[in-house]
Amino acid sequence: MQDLLTEIAEVAASDPDRGSVATYIPELAGIDPGQFGIAVATAGGEVFAAGDADTPFSIQSVSKVFALALALGHAGDQLWHRVGREPSGLSFDSVLLLERENGIPRNPFINAGALVATDTYLAGSSPREALGALLRFIRAAADNDSIHINEKVAQSEIATGHRNFSLAHYLASFGNLRNSVDKVLGTYCHQCAVEMTCRQLAMAGRFLVDSPRMPALVSIERRRRINALMMTCGHYDGSGDFAFRVGMPGKSGVGGGILVVSPGRASVAVWSPGLNRYGNSKLGTEAMERFAHRTGWSVFGVPHSGKDLT
Ligand code: GLN
Repeated sequence: MQDLLTEIAEVAASDPDRGSVATYIPELAGIDPGQFGIAVATAGGEVFAAGDADTPFSIQSVSKVFALALALGHAGDQLWHRVGREPSGLSFDSVLLLERENGIPRNPFINAGALVATDTYLAGSSPREALGALLRFIRAAADNDSIHINEKVAQSEIATGHRNFSLAHYLASFGNLRNSVDKVLGTYCHQCAVEMTCRQLAMAGRFLVDSPRMPALVSIERRRRINALMMTCGHYDGSGDFAFRVGMPGKSGVGGGILVVSPGRASVAVWSPGLNRYGNSKLGTEAMERFAHRTGWSVFGVPHSGKDLT
């Protein structure tokens, strides 16, 4: 496993075609696209890493996985009255379907659906309390108390997030927000501004891997459902392509991070800031395709040889 990760990091380091860094959040616009990190945390408790696996990055929409777990903890299946479970086939910040579908976002991983999840875990508490609960969840999953929110990134997004504000106002106009638009947006932008390294994110992702060594943060049924949503919706309008190429549930973020789950085996975090046309990490996706091919890991079948890298 270590040799494979080292090889994948070397291939990525020498790739001249790195995609483009997200510029619509000014604080992220200056990130060096030359970086690449990958880490694997196995169900058995081992961690492997290569490249810039200890460099913190903005997890952005990867946070929606933790937010969904927290929202489900608050509302249970009631959440599904307010948000759907279908891929949207549109970009993460699209407003198009909200009008046609009466303010019920297609899924919890597009921005509109994630705003409903944030509104749900806010419940009656203050943003500070809600974000405290989110950080406690992430820190417990990662077994690391140093994970924090980058305030500058949060403020940068709040100051420029016109699309997210319009999505939130749209949701509010259909009665699908319980808290004020400002409160939901402020909390959401802080949630997206959580900073983690690949090593920390791979550790945190183990809450979605069936591992006897992990504290059970969510039930088996919930874990399966979150994984199913990651597979179908975790890469927006690139979800089908990611399932085709990688064959494992994954959640991307515009910071260039991707969290991938191999149920029963391991959690994988990969990061490279340059994005492809869907807004998902370009080299991260390519690295995961190589990783899946070489390990034989897929939720859709076992390799012919029957052997795999665990
Ligand atoms: N904070 C970002 C936004 O709302 C997250 C989007 C993403 O990572 N795809 O635009």
